[in-house]
Amino acid sequence: MSISESDKKLIWHPYTQMKTSEAPIPIVKGDGIYVYDESGKKYIDAVSSWWVNLHGHSHPYIAEKISEQMKVLEHVIFAGFTHPKAVELAERLIKKLPTNQSKIFYSDDGSTSVEVAVKMVFQYWHNKGTEKKKIIAFKNAYHGDTFGAMSVSGRSAFTMAFTPFLFDVIFIDAPVKGKEKKSAEQLKKIVKNNDIAAFIFEPLIQGAGGMIMHEPEPLEQLVEICTKAGILTIADEVMTGFGRTGKFFATDYINVKPDVFCLSKGLTGGTLPLGITSCTKEIYNAFLSDNSAKTFFHGHSYTANPVACTAAIASLDLLEKNECWENIKMIERKHKEFCNTLKGNRKIKRAESVGTIMALEIETVENTSYLNSLKDNIYNFFIKRGIILRPLGNVIYFMPPYCIKEEELNIVYKAIRDFLGEI
Ligand SMILES: *Cc1c(COP(=O)(O)O)cnc(C)c1O
Repeated sequence: MSISESDKKLIWHPYTQMKTSEAPIPIVKGDGIYVYDESGKKYIDAVSSWWVNLHGHSHPYIAEKISEQMKVLEHVIFAGFTHPKAVELAERLIKKLPTNQSKIFYSDDGSTSVEVAVKMVFQYWHNKGTEKKKIIAFKNAYHGDTFGAMSVSGRSAFTMAFTPFLFDVIFIDAPVKGKEKKSAEQLKKIVKNNDIAAFIFEPLIQGAGGMIMHEPEPLEQLVEICTKAGILTIADEVMTGFGRTGKFFATDYINVKPDVFCLSKGLTGGTLPLGITSCTKEIYNAFLSDNSAKTFFHGHSYTANPVACTAAIASLDLLEKNECWENIKMIERKHKEFCNTLKGNRKIKRAESVGTIMALEIETVENTSYLNSLKDNIYNFFIKRGIILRPLGNVIYFMPPYCIKEEELNIVYKAIRDFLGEI
């Protein structure tokens, strides 16, 4: 039996309609920006394997570090114990984060980093003796698939079956072009309520919601409104962290600093799952008490897994090299140039980029949405060409590992141009 046939017998895939979807492609090897299927055909990983990969697949340096760590300490309970890799990673990250960040809480992935953030802010107020039960989020937001993360995400096809079970969240417009004022005005009205615990947002670009971008200035204004009103702010940098938007963090583009950060995806360079929620001293201090009921009762079996922490440290080593930032800048420049060449193309509603992420919204008679029927056509067109470009409905996005070369970027741009020629 082939790998695909055996897979079909037993495996249920994520975000996949198992009745109608085509058999998954078995990948047996990864190297740099490429992954290889069993027949030896190679594919450019133009989506960085769901936005996680930074330095290319099977990176020898990360592989070596992980392998060494495996032989020394694979895992240890993280309550009552610690280990050098968790400490080293915390020390290195805290230097990258804004100076108001003082504590690192480990978890498993992006969704759990958001769960931790949401629980942290609710309990912060609870511990201080003021119940604040509301969270503000952007319409179209995506913060993950667990219940708390779903609750603070925009209501969509993803959350439909669960709507009755999600807690109430106040949604405002994201400050996209033309809606900057509206968004700030909505927020100013809401912050007058005194039951708001926090404001959570994806800085500069809303990922799964359709790669929708906004400028730093209007975001800075929103964070400032909250900070002045005594409302905690949570930056979900799960997708945008680690150079994706051209700076180390997307919130490095704004001057007012959020109270909480959620990190995952690129954290380990895309090799192993790991989540981090960082917070200010002020938040942390609200949990310190002789009353054990004020403890933060949250933890996962694999909290701060030493191998995952080692991968994250190795990825930071690579991210600290000039070469990596030169490449990020090169991708940023090439994306901008490509978007400019598409100006005036009537098949396109929107072509824009931020840092290493480029998005193209294809004009269609249907509404722009994840369920748009163009999705499969787009996907199959690029797969045939040996390019993994898994669109969000009618939104094509290109988010490569940072080690991609100019010629390889050009191959993908050419394929996109050819696709536009065919529709
Ligand atoms: C992907 C994503 C998440 C969820 O992360 P997982 O690791 O998939 O659970 C949360 N927030 C944002 C902004 C994301 O892009």
